[in-house]
Amino acid sequence: MKKKDGYRKYSFLTDIRGIKNAIGEMRGWGYQKQPKLNANYIRSHDDPVLNEDWFINTIKEKIATHPANTMEYPFAGEKIFDEPLIGFVRGDDPILQQYKSIIGPHHFTPKEIMRWQAENNGVPAPKAQDLSVVSYIMPISRITKDDNAAIKEWPSERWAQTRLLGEIFSQTFVREIVTSLMGRGVLAISPDVTPMFNKKRYPQVGWASPWSHRHMAYAAGLGTFGMHDFFITEKGCAHRTGSFVVNLKLAPNRKRPDDIHAYCLQYQGKQCLQCAKRCPANAITAEKAHNKETCYQRVAKSLMYCNKNYHIFIYGCGLCATGVPCESEIPKPLQKNSG
Ligand code: SF4
Ligand code: SF4
Repeated sequence: MKKKDGYRKYSFLTDIRGIKNAIGEMRGWGYQKQPKLNANYIRSHDDPVLNEDWFINTIKEKIATHPANTMEYPFAGEKIFDEPLIGFVRGDDPILQQYKSIIGPHHFTPKEIMRWQAENNGVPAPKAQDLSVVSYIMPISRITKDDNAAIKEWPSERWAQTRLLGEIFSQTFVREIVTSLMGRGVLAISPDVTPMFNKKRYPQVGWASPWSHRHMAYAAGLGTFGMHDFFITEKGCAHRTGSFVVNLKLAPNRKRPDDIHAYCLQYQGKQCLQCAKRCPANAITAEKAHNKETCYQRVAKSLMYCNKNYHIFIYGCGLCATGVPCESEIPKPLQKNSG
């Protein structure tokens, strides 16, 4: 049941897309089947050249014009996301293998996830050097950031809608791109909508998934991590991130900082910790940075709040990503670090 002009009743039971989204995020269940590869596709002269510009323009176009990039009641018609940032990682970039030791052995390389897609389509698995990751950052709208910056306990209504509708939008438009590529005979896959995508507690890193969009964004040179573990880009840390893998050679278009904390004031020795002050659960401290488990407990509790007050099935928080110096830009004193 979709409500266009009023709130849902009993969203705990009736917001099916929210319930499906939560199950998918935790267990990798309930996603649509992957599109099939058209292995016999014959290119025609008016086919677009599938290069870096094509991906940049296509993603920008989706975010500017797609009807699913829209809030619902009582904010119907408002855009969820502003103009994105887009970057590329080569499939054989050594950092992708290093993530196995940094994040954990469960984290997929593009080659591993693409092998699954190739086997499903009865074609040979591509080599790592023939793959690329397309990574994108979708900045959250000004009005939503302002709403969240103004609250102190639970996520604002716009933020909660952004968590749910923004994720559904992201999955929708990437599926459209993946379907279009597969239809043109190019293997492509969005790892977070496959049955292999399930979140677990891992001894090394706590709660984690086998495909980290934020680590792909770091590899693509789109930003670095903050004390709050959010990902700080030239458009700030209040955004949604996504990525997908394609069987094409795309050239990296951004320089990756060596320091994974290059854009965080506190990590760079400048007093800040504004994110810690914003956290209602004291999950961020100067000594230990972001405590994932404490954060997780708080975020899980917000499910009840969002259902009761906003009538959608979602959890979220993001207080530490709004009303802070890294919300919408690289903090000014560090902008020289961004090359
Ligand atoms: S608020 Fe300050 S300390 Fe926290 S992540 Fe942003 S720059 Fe770093
Ligand atoms: S998301 Fe919320 S609970 Fe988690 S660290 Fe940020 S402010 Fe704290």
